[in-house]
Amino acid sequence: MKRIAIASFIHEGNSFSPVPTTTAEFRQQLWLSGCAAKEHARGTRTELGAAVDFLDTHRDWQGLFLTCAEAGPAGPIDDMTFALIRDEILDGLSRGPWDAVYLALHGAMLSASSPTADLDLLRAVRRAIGRAPLGVSFDLHANLGAAQIGLFDVACGFKTHPHVDMYETAARTLELLARTASGEIAPKGALAKVPAILPSMNMRTTDGPMAEIEAIAAEVERRHGLLDVSVFGGFSYGDSPLAGASVMVHADGDAELAQEAAHEVGAAMTARLDRFYVALPTPTAALMQAAGATAWPVALIESSDNPGSGGIGDTTGLFAAMHAARPPGPAVFAFFADPGVVGQAAAAGIGGRVAVTLGGRIAPEFGAPVAISGTVDRLTDGRFRNSGPLAHGAHCNLGRTALVRDGELAIIVTAACQSPNDPGFFTLHDIDVHRLRWLGVKAKNHFRAAFRPLIPTMIDVDTPGPAALDLRHFRFRHAPMDFRRS
Ligand SMILES: [Zn+2]
Repeated sequence: MKRIAIASFIHEGNSFSPVPTTTAEFRQQLWLSGCAAKEHARGTRTELGAAVDFLDTHRDWQGLFLTCAEAGPAGPIDDMTFALIRDEILDGLSRGPWDAVYLALHGAMLSASSPTADLDLLRAVRRAIGRAPLGVSFDLHANLGAAQIGLFDVACGFKTHPHVDMYETAARTLELLARTASGEIAPKGALAKVPAILPSMNMRTTDGPMAEIEAIAAEVERRHGLLDVSVFGGFSYGDSPLAGASVMVHADGDAELAQEAAHEVGAAMTARLDRFYVALPTPTAALMQAAGATAWPVALIESSDNPGSGGIGDTTGLFAAMHAARPPGPAVFAFFADPGVVGQAAAAGIGGRVAVTLGGRIAPEFGAPVAISGTVDRLTDGRFRNSGPLAHGAHCNLGRTALVRDGELAIIVTAACQSPNDPGFFTLHDIDVHRLRWLGVKAKNHFRAAFRPLIPTMIDVDTPGPAALDLRHFRFRHAPMDFRRS
């Protein structure tokens, strides 16, 4: 029986978020090991869900789930929490020897003292496991560098954005890892850096430049019979020496071929860089567009405070405009993260009245608080399982939540901070999205995975926030100078 160790440490670090990531955020989202981690992942279309299925279908492998930890995108992880999770994984690995090790990483993790936390972790893991084959799966928004290539034997990245192929990416990595362990293949990796820090607004793989680049990558992979070609857009709010886009290729036994293919796809990306920089309307202009819409609901999407990019659920640029404009029919704003307001709503009870301020609590520099008074329509425990195409089946925990209604506008307030990307977020609050005139969301491209078929008019809006569209708002310190757009 061959033995494989499975672990995950997933975090996307936003250098410009005022909210650090602590043990609390991992405990809120995922921090489990052993059978508990395995059973939590079973049946989900996630990377760890794929690891469970790999073990079920590969009876010659015995798998041990070590620490599996994930927190939502936010500011850097405090050093104590980073060390705690890293050491749990290393302790688990000390129970080797292993025939293979699989790690699920984001690839843009930051700790308080290190802008290259994934690289630090990979080095420590390699030291711990010696020459055992190591396979890694990464998010499409990973900030990768050539230094990583020598540390793992094989790695793959998501090929879709919205990321509807988390499961498939892990399954692919595990297959390649198993074939490496058996000696069937000898992967040789290469990475070509693309010299740009790209906003992800126009980085969907359904249309636009990234769709073209992914098609080219797939064609190059087929033409050369490569093991994997993965394109990484990078995470623009992660200020790191590894910031920027890249292309990673693994070829069977041929390092030169891997290098050539990485450069070929990298050149195709470099030729399209300008198309990733787009402009968006202000809230006022977006609401004028909404007023002229002929198909409803209209979604107004505020990416500058998208929790999936390190947003904090606190900025008021879009909400203030929607509130002042008085929606012409049923409208919902999703969401503000404010445990205090949830507590006040819970104290008032369903049907009770509350007068509260929303937003501007953590970072008023991104918009002043907005005062509302309304009725508490619903209170929930914030728990549901994803029913949409993103991480289908995965457990979500928003903390306690409240739905407060101020005239036609109902506002979802949550204790934790997570993007409203899954239909379950709205079902939990008894909201039928079809019946809305306006839906304001703190979200970005991932919102489209489930809602594109349901919402005919989608307007992305430019507002201030920790994930604002224009990267010139941010002071980079670590990222390569020539990658920054001036
Ligand atoms: Zn991503």
